[in-house]
Amino acid sequence: MTAVVLDGNRIAAEIRAEVASDVNSMTSAGIRPGLAVVLVGNNPASEIYVRGKVKSSGEIGIYSEQLTPPENISTEELLELVLRLNRRDDIDGILVQLPLPAQVDSKKILMAVDPAKDVDGFHPMNVGYLSTQRPGLVPCTPAGVMEMLRRSGIATSGAEAVVIGRSDIVGKPMAMLLTNANATVTICHSRTRDLPGVCRRADILVAAIGKNGMVTRDFVKPGAAVIDVGINRVTDPAEFKAFFAGNAKREAEFASKGSTLMGDVHPEVAEVAGALTPVPGGVGPLTIAMLMSNTVKAAKMRRGNHLAGTAEAAR
Ligand code: NAP
Repeated sequence: MTAVVLDGNRIAAEIRAEVASDVNSMTSAGIRPGLAVVLVGNNPASEIYVRGKVKSSGEIGIYSEQLTPPENISTEELLELVLRLNRRDDIDGILVQLPLPAQVDSKKILMAVDPAKDVDGFHPMNVGYLSTQRPGLVPCTPAGVMEMLRRSGIATSGAEAVVIGRSDIVGKPMAMLLTNANATVTICHSRTRDLPGVCRRADILVAAIGKNGMVTRDFVKPGAAVIDVGINRVTDPAEFKAFFAGNAKREAEFASKGSTLMGDVHPEVAEVAGALTPVPGGVGPLTIAMLMSNTVKAAKMRRGNHLAGTAEAAR
């Protein structure tokens, strides 16, 4: 068996087009959704992520603003900045890019974001809404996985789902979303006994671990849908060879850049799984698409009554 490749770029483009059309009609009705992205200091990886988010907002027609306080900002100063954004009516979404510098109390900052503008879905209020199935803002990566399953015709109701990873930003909300979608869900982590055996029960296996190619073919029931959330950089030539020897495209990339991105799933899983997300080009593109979608959702929830009578209000 060779797994069907679940194309995240295609699905993300579909979602972006739908969001852009929403933004267009909202803007015509006098409401332009606005996103503020707070990037503290000069972390190169964070700068790349934030650039992608701001670029995508522009392409879709969302107003976006990037705030770049210095690396040495205090918790109180950053808190004041977040509170100012909370008060602004033209800003619907606030995203504080993590990680924050060590002197800043990250939890205090994330708690200060107005839950109605918390487009990352990290505020305990939104975590509570998700767990009690009330309307709220859901973390972008697991929300993107659900869109990928839905749009690929992979049924969740009654399915056995196993999520490897229990982080607040991926594993736990992923498990909650699958539970809400009527899957029978098992959450695994570093203390799970017989991890391959538990994973082999899964019709839907989600790997959110952060370990290169850890999920091998013996974790996978033949025909299962395998969703690889991991994004890991391979730089060691021996490790590269173990995963990608004979893959001409990867070899050319490694020769020119000295690295390649891979997920938590071993390439050999493609021979066993029924469907599989690639890395790159799988779950990654959906994360930004869902951030755009969350910003529009936040705008509708917060300013929705101004849209009464328009097509948007009916959505
Ligand atoms: P995290 O906070 O480090 O959590 C990793 C989880 O994996 C933990 O629950 C940990 O268990 C579990 N784990 C670690 N080693 C394990 C092992 N040997 N066996 C079983 N479980 C193990 O990571 P995260 O933030 O959730 O991210 C996970 C991966 O997803 C990373 O590669 C990250 O880069 C990627 N990611 C991708 C996107 C995207 O847009 N595609 C977004 C976010 C994250 P314990 O709890 O027991 O320690």
